[in-house]
Amino acid sequence: MKKGMKKYTITLLSFIALLLVWNQTEAEVSGPPTIHLRVMETTDLHGNMIGYDYEDRRKTVEFGLSRTASLIKQARNESPNSLLFDNGDILEGNGLDEYAYRSHPLDMANVHPVFKAMNTLLYDAATAGNHEFNYGIDFMEESLRGANFPYVNANIYVEDGNQLEEDDLNYFNPYTIIEKEVTDTAGEKQKLNVGVIGFITPIVAEWNKEYFRGNLKVKNIKETAEHFIPIMKSKGADIIVALAHTGLQSDKGLEEKKGNSVQALSKVQGIDAILFGHSHSVFPVKDELQKVPGIDLKTGTINGTAAVQAGYWGNHLGLIDLKIVFQGGEWKVKSSLSTIRPVYRTIKSKKKEVIPADPLIEQIMKKDHQDALDFLKHKK
Ligand SMILES: [Zn+2]
Repeated sequence: MKKGMKKYTITLLSFIALLLVWNQTEAEVSGPPTIHLRVMETTDLHGNMIGYDYEDRRKTVEFGLSRTASLIKQARNESPNSLLFDNGDILEGNGLDEYAYRSHPLDMANVHPVFKAMNTLLYDAATAGNHEFNYGIDFMEESLRGANFPYVNANIYVEDGNQLEEDDLNYFNPYTIIEKEVTDTAGEKQKLNVGVIGFITPIVAEWNKEYFRGNLKVKNIKETAEHFIPIMKSKGADIIVALAHTGLQSDKGLEEKKGNSVQALSKVQGIDAILFGHSHSVFPVKDELQKVPGIDLKTGTINGTAAVQAGYWGNHLGLIDLKIVFQGGEWKVKSSLSTIRPVYRTIKSKKKEVIPADPLIEQIMKKDHQDALDFLKHKK
């Protein structure tokens, strides 16, 4: 009797265990639709399309979009659904950019060299950085026309001589909504509307005042976000990605005007991911940032919002992996993981692990690179 009872108990336990396993599997298959979306960022490229240091006239493995391109391709291969964004500061900063401004023709046939490279990588959208304005507004407009992807910015407005008002005219399209066809975890096709909005540090109006004065004005980032996010939601955005050309902290000179840092932006309701730049740092990394309240360096969130910053000159690719679940009639971000991938790293103090350059980008840039070198040689 006792022996029999024991046998019965084991069988019952096995049955319960099986039932639990079965239930779990059932939950995964018949649970709410779930999407894994990878959002990728480059930022502050400053004309660095290939691994070449125009300042010292030497090749380098430490930066350049041709290497970031290899990381982008690898990241795309790993993920069923992905989007690629650039966060600005492209048109000024190195010898190639200087050559492009001073002696490269810009017309229908000749796009700005940086876009010859970037267009091949099929960016989904970008935002303008303050350096886009360094050679004047006309040059910026002519250059950006060469991009095969939309530029968004919500807080630069056309100057009308009045104080900042609700009905001010946006200079760029403030946002775009990308209708992205994605594959969910059950292998089903889904439509996900990804809203993308851009912001710039208002210090641009000060640093480039010769071009801004009388032409353009800049509003507070946080207030602009609070205005546009509900509009984007009402226009059907399922999730919202913010491209913020501003640092984790606001620029020196803006401390008085609160709301212009990524920390402030992260508190705005409705933003699911922030890709930021401008300050040439990387996020998330283990350094003094760890001491700042609201930052979780394990997942890479700031006040609960996923965020990433991909360094500068193409030396890192920034990634945010979002798990998005359909619940209560809407798509919601359930969890996120932000990571940064460098194009090279030092191992055991000397040896370098280098990401190989993408041969297509190198090939595309070959002539403009040579022309830039010739230009620099003859420059006074
Ligand atoms: Zn900048």
